[in-house]
Amino acid sequence: MSASTVPREGRSRSSPIVLLLVVSLALVGMLAAQAYDAARSQRSMAEKVLHDYAALVVDEYERRAANELGFNGYYFVITALKDVVTRPGATLPPPRALALRVGDETKRALPLARTFFRFDPSSGSLETAGPVLDQEAAAWLRRVLGERGGKPLEPGRRYETRYTRIGDALRGFVLVPVPASAGAAPPDRSGPSLLVGFAIDVGALRAALQRALDRGPLLPPSLGGSEIAKNAVFVSLTDPFQNVLIREGAPFSPSLGSEKTLGSEPNGILQGFVLRAAIDPAAAPRLAIGGLPRSRLPILLAILALTAGLMVTAIVQLRRERALARLRSDFVSRVSHELRTPLTQIRMFAETLLLDRVRGEDERTRSLAIIDREARRLSNLVENVLRFSRSQRGDGRVSPRPQELGPIVSELLEDFRPLAEGRGMLVRAPVPSAIMARVDEDAVRQILLNLLDNAVKYGPEGQEVRVGVSNSSGTARIWVDDEGPGIPSAERQRIWQPFYRLERHRESSVAGTGIGLSVVADLVAQLGGRFWVERGERDGARFVVEFPAASSTGGRE
Ligand code: ADP
Repeated sequence: MSASTVPREGRSRSSPIVLLLVVSLALVGMLAAQAYDAARSQRSMAEKVLHDYAALVVDEYERRAANELGFNGYYFVITALKDVVTRPGATLPPPRALALRVGDETKRALPLARTFFRFDPSSGSLETAGPVLDQEAAAWLRRVLGERGGKPLEPGRRYETRYTRIGDALRGFVLVPVPASAGAAPPDRSGPSLLVGFAIDVGALRAALQRALDRGPLLPPSLGGSEIAKNAVFVSLTDPFQNVLIREGAPFSPSLGSEKTLGSEPNGILQGFVLRAAIDPAAAPRLAIGGLPRSRLPILLAILALTAGLMVTAIVQLRRERALARLRSDFVSRVSHELRTPLTQIRMFAETLLLDRVRGEDERTRSLAIIDREARRLSNLVENVLRFSRSQRGDGRVSPRPQELGPIVSELLEDFRPLAEGRGMLVRAPVPSAIMARVDEDAVRQILLNLLDNAVKYGPEGQEVRVGVSNSSGTARIWVDDEGPGIPSAERQRIWQPFYRLERHRESSVAGTGIGLSVVADLVAQLGGRFWVERGERDGARFVVEFPAASSTGGRE
């Protein structure tokens, strides 16, 4: 049968679509993975470059600070001081007094020295000149110088620096050993070294460090120009006690920055200080490294999710279509089957009559009754199919008007009698009169016919089917109660859906199309009524339909 090929066609048509969707999903996934990889490697490259530039800034500032403090600062002060104190009989002058006797370069460096000192490690005596050292600083200095003693400088050094913190303040000292024969000691006496030096003026130290910063861009101009150096470079210098001495620019992501603990510069003048630098990532494009990539991941993930969503929707749709195609094909074959059974009977008995093969009047009457019964079944089936296809198109046509239900039911039962008798079934219907409802006569006939037909099909042979008509507040009710197996409560909603049949009837010999109850449901709904099924009086099924009542004054039109 051609209908049976529908599902197969559905499957063969849907497979390439699913395949294409899967391939496109895989491609988008690959694209996303590649883009993610590319973005990640570009980011890590850009971050590395930013980090390297920050390291350049650190090196450049360290070099400048060492120059500013060392070669242009401490060196001149120490040289002048040594020069003075190593003269025979020289006294220790205060820094201001020394300024009067030295050249311009030394004069410029002298503000770095606050107080000069001379220390004799052998006696522990500490002599100072200039602003008086507070007691705590003097005690610390005496202890440090005592521990150091007069041992010579490390090779390559011209002096040493020491830093401490007293209270919250940074204190620094520059010192150098000189022979004991120098200074106050008699020239002929050679003995252990003396230590001379000065307490650093921290204000001047800060100023020198700031000068180092102000001497032009810290990044080579070829890498971005002075504009970048001014606005996109962050530098900070903290002393060994975590106090910030110099800060320039807003701090940027530390992961892109560089940090260095100083100490390797000549004479260790910034030993233990921490220098940090970072470049503003926003300036990256101007540094000719292409900038940090903007993440395309969200948009790619969105595309991925969209494709996956499309795929799921398409698959669900295809499955639905396939299921529908299967239902349609089942429906067509069931209808064909249902049509064939009465047609065969009609043809057979019509032939018997035509060829005059009947054995008597009784048999003739029986044959005619069968033809009549099967023709009614046929027309009921055709009527159901027509109603169903109309309701599927949303084209149901009912014309409700006030009608008395009793006569409609009685007439229908009369018509139905041949069918009932065919199964030895007894229909009991004490139909009361004067129950009015707003209904369409044809629709009520169709509804009742379908319910009775089901009672015949699914109930036992010889059963008694009870039909009732009643009314209560504002509604009129018709019910059909059989002696069949009933409807399990879990299925009582679903049986009204098109094509739905109970599991036990799907493969059974009881033929059915699965549209009878859906036609009932549709007609009742169109008439503004309600329908349901419940357990019957004798444990069978009791189908109930309810219509809006009409006043008896309206009468039958
Ligand atoms: P069908 O053509 O299969 O009878 P219907 O829509 O009329 O289609 O009924 C749907 C299903 O509900 C039937 O297949 C059957 O399983 C079940 N059913 C309907 N009426 C009865 C009944 N009186 N007793 C038991 N089962 C019934």
